[in-house]
Amino acid sequence: MTKPTGYRSAKLTVGCKEPNKDHDSVINTTQILVLGAGIGGCIAALALAPFYSVVLVDLHSVPKDRVGECLAPAAGRILHKLRLSQLLHQGHLVSHGLLSYWGSETPKVVDQLVNPDGHGWHLDRQLFEQQLRDVAQMRGVSCFWPAAFIQSKQQAEGWCVELQHESQRTEVHCQLVIDATGRHSRFARSLAISRHNLDQQLSVWLTAEVKVRKHISVLSSAAMGWWYSAPLPKLPFAAKNMSQSDGSEGQARLFALQIQPGQLDKSLSQSSHCFLKAAAEAPGLGTLVQQIVPGTEQLHELVAANSSKLSVGCGTGWFAIGDAAMSFDPLSSQGIFNAMATAMQLADLLIEHGLHHHSTVALYQAQLDSIWQHYLQHRKHFYALVG
Ligand SMILES: Cc1cc2nc3c(=O)[nH]c(=O)nc-3n(C[C@H](O)[C@H](O)[C@H](O)COP(=O)(O)OP(=O)(O)OC[C@H]3O[C@@H](n4cnc5c(N)ncnc54)[C@H](O)[C@@H]3O)c2cc1C
Repeated sequence: MTKPTGYRSAKLTVGCKEPNKDHDSVINTTQILVLGAGIGGCIAALALAPFYSVVLVDLHSVPKDRVGECLAPAAGRILHKLRLSQLLHQGHLVSHGLLSYWGSETPKVVDQLVNPDGHGWHLDRQLFEQQLRDVAQMRGVSCFWPAAFIQSKQQAEGWCVELQHESQRTEVHCQLVIDATGRHSRFARSLAISRHNLDQQLSVWLTAEVKVRKHISVLSSAAMGWWYSAPLPKLPFAAKNMSQSDGSEGQARLFALQIQPGQLDKSLSQSSHCFLKAAAEAPGLGTLVQQIVPGTEQLHELVAANSSKLSVGCGTGWFAIGDAAMSFDPLSSQGIFNAMATAMQLADLLIEHGLHHHSTVALYQAQLDSIWQHYLQHRKHFYALVG
């Protein structure tokens, strides 16, 4: 691929891990500003950096530990294209499939053997995001964190975007903004673009070490919502845990309950004991719960796990990718892949047509609409199976 005309290097003077301390005196200029260095933002920055100057910004200097670990097999193609496959060779687990009790007490094996893309992965999420950030820095992306998007002004040649680093404000001038800030869609929402929620689903999640090693996830529907449990490469927030699975016979595991707020008994999100008592009653989870190493359970903060989408995912000079554009029910296990895929679809359009082509907005919006329609069909199909 050739560089589109108009290519130039970033004039931004921010550092790599340490932000520039002299914000007030610097006018930072770049072609593309990516807000959010989650998986979507990093993939967009990596795909675009060989062709444009890219600045990547995130609220956090180090990626946060968070729920969401299952990487779909199709993601392997994107990682291969960006020469990132080696990142998965260490620190992550291979995922061979799922034992599904969805609408039935009789388990069904959903085996990745039949998937043309092969196996998936159980990510160490924090490690993976850090790996992507590190490669982005190595490949010439100007990285700036911790810095929060505050506001923007659209100008004749693009945007003037205001960022906050601790007590300081700085401006970045760019031709195009990519909103990769996750389900809060910080940039799009600042433009008064509305976000529609299909439901209000929440996720209560707990991590623990279990005494058995089972490299398979378990999915289980229940009257109040649905459960899943998946192996993890390591326990999150490791220092706070009394025991670690590394080197022992045991295994770190995630247990998560997805539930609508009206169904949620507060004790489930406040007490590990209540949460695990309920989990033990879900088909397929009882044995795993019994095998938890006492004292290793950690109940985490409730998180939003609903399906939602921006009313429009792009406009003149800006594009939303990943969760910022649309977020999926975790049942799909497609959120991370979607973040990567929308980043790549957008990058392909921008590399092919340049930053200002009149049809890019319509083309990208049509791609988002198509993804959303497919997602809705799948979602309807799966929930119909459990009434
Ligand atoms: C309970 C649960 C389980 C899930 N399980 C899975 C799973 O197994 N598999 C799967 O594929 N998906 C799963 N998902 C979905 C998946 O986690 C998301 O789809 C994915 O994280 C989207 O990536 P992203 O890069 O678009 O956004 P995010 O991961 O949300 O990243 C957004 C980034 O933007 C930064 N940011 C936010 N605001 C600002 C700001 N103002 N200024 C600067 N930076 C900012 C944040 O710090 C963050 O780094 C799950 C989700 C939930 C809720």
